[in-house]
Amino acid sequence: MNIKEMDSTYIAHTYGRFPVQLVRGKGSLAWDEAGKEYIDLGSGIAVNGFGIADDQWLQAVTEQLAQLPHASNLYYTEPCAVLARMLCERTGMKRVFFGNSGAEANECLIKAARKYAAEKHGPDCYTIVTLKNSFHGRTLTTLSATGQDHYHELYQPLTPGFAHIAPGDMAALKALAKTTKIAAVLIECVQGEGGVVPLDKAFVDELAAFCRENDVLLAVDEVQTGNGRSGQLYAYMCFGLEPDIVSTAKGLGGGLPIGACLLGEKVKDVFAPGDHGSTFGGNPAACAGGVSILSRTDDALLAGVRERSQYIFDQLTGAEGVESVSGLGLMIGIKPTKPAREVVAKCIENGVLCLTAKDRVRLLPALNIPMDQLQKAVAVLKEACKG
Ligand SMILES: *Cc1c(COP(=O)(O)O)cnc(C)c1O
Repeated sequence: MNIKEMDSTYIAHTYGRFPVQLVRGKGSLAWDEAGKEYIDLGSGIAVNGFGIADDQWLQAVTEQLAQLPHASNLYYTEPCAVLARMLCERTGMKRVFFGNSGAEANECLIKAARKYAAEKHGPDCYTIVTLKNSFHGRTLTTLSATGQDHYHELYQPLTPGFAHIAPGDMAALKALAKTTKIAAVLIECVQGEGGVVPLDKAFVDELAAFCRENDVLLAVDEVQTGNGRSGQLYAYMCFGLEPDIVSTAKGLGGGLPIGACLLGEKVKDVFAPGDHGSTFGGNPAACAGGVSILSRTDDALLAGVRERSQYIFDQLTGAEGVESVSGLGLMIGIKPTKPAREVVAKCIENGVLCLTAKDRVRLLPALNIPMDQLQKAVAVLKEACKG
């Protein structure tokens, strides 16, 4: 039995995998079992922010693995404290809760918002408003937060307490506020799984003003947009927001599972010992990797992200077979005239790995992808969009 057969025999069929078996990688290059080389424009879905097995990240993680790979949250360890301090100093947020995934970061965000709102405004203040076409995770509660019906259908009944409005529809939010106490509004600044769609700046401004005026928490899901991907450290910074709660994950760990919920001034003391927890949360090896990644996500790196972004937009906007290009920083969606999945298949054939999101080809390259590799990969993608 080869690996592909073994996988489809023994792994639950939750993923529609591309027909590629990856065995190793370095930076923005990856190789399959036959030794074929690929340029990676997906980064394990925005996880390998500095590429695969980045040397400095690898050193930080392996040193920590040899020293103390896991403790428990009953003891103090250095990497999580250092990473939490870095996150707070870089964002102005006040405290951090660590979990292991984006969904777990959002679970914490939702719990924090509910607890804060119930204590401050009463037990009937629990509704969290999210946007249609959003994506917040796969646990039952983050699925309930997700504003896409097709994710809901199979798993009724969902967690109550969520309402969804269309991006841009302030009237719907104001109408809802007349009948329902709203605890928080949760947004992605760029809807990733929803097709790489940035929110409109004017709408985001109005939303932030509404939250301020009505003492509603403003929460931002930076799981995919965060950690340099947008061209700023967090995408909310591109929109000039001051959120009360931020969740992040994917790229923060540089390749190991991590999630973080950043609590701002209002909610910093919402949790007391025993209120929330996670066995692996704040894992020393994952956090040591995070410290390595975050300490190098500096102005020079971010300038490089914006430069690479501009290159991709310039190359693909108006190219043959390309209807439109959307996104922010190195989170880019390309709407081809033919089905996105066909374009991705053609790219794989020609040694380039990219993703899809809805009807778009989605690019999430490493933030430091070498320019020559990016140029080669974009040329392959352009060719794949033609005809
Ligand atoms: C990927 C993603 C999640 C879920 O993260 P997991 O690590 O898969 O649980 C949540 N929100 C957004 C915006 C994401 O892109």
